[in-house]
Amino acid sequence: MATGYDVIVLGLGGMGSAAADHLAARGARVLGLERFGPVHDRGSSHGGSRITRQSYFEGAAYVPLLLRSYELYARLEREAGDEVAVLCGGLMIGRPESRTVSGSLASAVAHDLPHEMLDAKEIRARFPTFAPGDDEVALYEARAGLLRPEVTVGAQLKLATAAGADLRFEEPVTSWRALSQGRGVSVTTPRGTYTAGHLVVTPGAWAPEQLADLGVPFTIERQIMYWFEPEGGVGPYVPERHPIYIWEDTAGEQVYGFPAIEGPGGGAKVAFFRKGSTCTPDTIDRTVHPHEVAEMAAAAAARLQSLPGRLLRAVTCMYTTTPDEHFVIAPHPAHEAVTVACGFSGHGFKFVPVVGEILADLALTGATAHPIALFRPDRLGGR
Ligand SMILES: Cc1cc2nc3c(=O)[nH]c(=O)nc-3n(C[C@H](O)[C@H](O)[C@H](O)COP(=O)(O)OP(=O)(O)OC[C@H]3O[C@@H](n4cnc5c(N)ncnc54)[C@H](O)[C@@H]3O)c2cc1C
Repeated sequence: MATGYDVIVLGLGGMGSAAADHLAARGARVLGLERFGPVHDRGSSHGGSRITRQSYFEGAAYVPLLLRSYELYARLEREAGDEVAVLCGGLMIGRPESRTVSGSLASAVAHDLPHEMLDAKEIRARFPTFAPGDDEVALYEARAGLLRPEVTVGAQLKLATAAGADLRFEEPVTSWRALSQGRGVSVTTPRGTYTAGHLVVTPGAWAPEQLADLGVPFTIERQIMYWFEPEGGVGPYVPERHPIYIWEDTAGEQVYGFPAIEGPGGGAKVAFFRKGSTCTPDTIDRTVHPHEVAEMAAAAAARLQSLPGRLLRAVTCMYTTTPDEHFVIAPHPAHEAVTVACGFSGHGFKFVPVVGEILADLALTGATAHPIALFRPDRLGGR
């Protein structure tokens, strides 16, 4: 049995790589175990871009965490020397009473966040790629933008390694258990069994398998990201001209998208926010079908000038969704030596480094000053 670690991190995707980074930076002896290679595309943290924003329609309770996350993303860029964020601005579009608009505005007002309200004419004049209906408005937030998930994970792995973390890839955890009498944890992989004082479990879409005893009914959802080449080229879709957006229709369905960040040939990415089908990491259908492309193309054509144009590529990804779409971040209710972070419900990436900070707090001190009461697993009827 190999010993001598303070903390083992199970899963080195978005959240696990952040935890390894923050733990190692505080001097903890860290072992990270990842099923796949470093920065892979079989979980939830791939696809070139993720939206970040502060006027959060999902709840004003998230705003303090977002403010800290912005600081920590800036620190990550500085320390790793990588370009992680492109703060190109963002539009939250819909009717004034839609959750996307009214919820974003409520958060902006509650936390005094800089924002502007635009009517349809103003949206069309300032952002000519957008074609809103006359009854639609938008909250514009200049500090919104996008994060690059692969660059983020790579930067966090790099910093964790530089700070002494022992990160092992292609080494899946097959079982783990808490040892009795506060003696920490024991973690087994095909290569051996390791012990440590504490275990951080960040398994993404493998939460139902790794954290069955939480009793939380997670749903794993197959989601699709599409890249289209606008008719006439990406010129009007560069980040200086085309912000990120989330656009809610009268049925409550949300379409979101990004500027073209990979130059000509990279295209503009669009997706449905919550139109997933239930799957598991083993059963997910990675093929994107013609009727799915047609549905996305029609939704893009109804909202944006010169889209859909030509489909360049389409890629699947998984959400791990909780019944109320809020996260699970907490000490494991049954095991003092275990901390969990999962159930990010399709909106976790913008929180990655602050989740890393929270996990380091919980693993090393048993408590955090960050407001995480909303993320307790027992709210969902689990243990
Ligand atoms: C299409 C799509 C669009 C999204 N858009 C946004 C957005 O715009 N803004 C936003 O904020 N969020 C967005 N999200 C959500 C965000 O990307 C996720 O919340 C976040 O990436 C989840 O990170 P994670 O660490 O939980 O999962 P992952 O990054 O998947 O990491 C989990 C890791 O655990 C590993 N693992 C699992 N089991 C084991 C085991 N037994 N042993 C070892 N390793 C194991 C996996 O291989 C994986 O690497 C989006 C997600 C998707 C899929």
